[in-house]
Amino acid sequence: MNRQKSFENEKPTLFLVPTPIGNLSELSPRAIDVLKSVDVIACEDTRTSGQLLSHFDIHKRLIAYQNFNEDPASKGIMNLLNQGKNVALISDAGYPLINDPGQKIVTLATAEGFNVVPLSGCSAMLDGLVASGLVAQPFIFIGFLPQSNTDRNKKLKEYKNYPMTMVFYEAPHRIEKMMKSCLEILGDRRCCLARELTKVHEEFLRGTISEIIPELETLKGEMVIIIDGNHDDYTKDIDYGEIMNMVEKSVAMGMTTTDAIKDAAERTGVSKNKIYKMVHECEKN
Ligand code: SAM
Repeated sequence: MNRQKSFENEKPTLFLVPTPIGNLSELSPRAIDVLKSVDVIACEDTRTSGQLLSHFDIHKRLIAYQNFNEDPASKGIMNLLNQGKNVALISDAGYPLINDPGQKIVTLATAEGFNVVPLSGCSAMLDGLVASGLVAQPFIFIGFLPQSNTDRNKKLKEYKNYPMTMVFYEAPHRIEKMMKSCLEILGDRRCCLARELTKVHEEFLRGTISEIIPELETLKGEMVIIIDGNHDDYTKDIDYGEIMNMVEKSVAMGMTTTDAIKDAAERTGVSKNKIYKMVHECEKN
């Protein structure tokens, strides 16, 4: 167990600082103070962040922390923390870690007991979700789906029965393929495509997936896609014969019936009671 009282100790701190996803006035006064106070700022692209920082008259030592160098860069940041330095982590836009680098250093720094302090702020997924018109919770943030059709469809099949609102990111040149996969695998659900959030061309397309697809060809810019969860009884497509086979096989391999039912329930998501009743019915017949 490690307990962090963020502002009641002298330990060095790793600050997680969100930066604007479009509108520069969304860099908060606290973010500016923190960025001005730290010893070092770790960022994805030193040129991109350099421009943002000089706009706010922030002049600090910058180090690169990118997906491809997360291991060595994390070690570098850990050395800085061990030397008593405070470090801020930013990404090109929005929150670090949210489809951006940062996971490794947060895992290491928390494990070593350094302060890891988040600042509130910009993230495209939350902006898109709250204005989508769909139910905002429960939700699941998925981010980018795989690029290959097969892998993308496989992932979508995993999510097909999720009852929560789903939030995706996608690039404009892949959006058509992605939305067509969603239509094919998830069905024609309610959806919102939020584009260019916080920028002058901000736009929301709210409708069903099939209503939005014809509009995609002309759409540019950065996009968040919010899709309704599955509100059907998600057990209705389940092959009960398959579940019975599962239970029988487990029992044949030496499991007790109770354990075999529990195991089948965990593997299929069907309730233990339902499987128990099915097994009981079979035994009677
Ligand atoms: N860390 C960022 C965040 O917290 O939102 C996300 C970074 S991810 C590499 C970039 C993706 O975020 C874009 O391809 C797009 O899907 C989404 N995104 C970023 N800015 C956006 C904006 N202004 N409007 C809509 N989507 C945006």
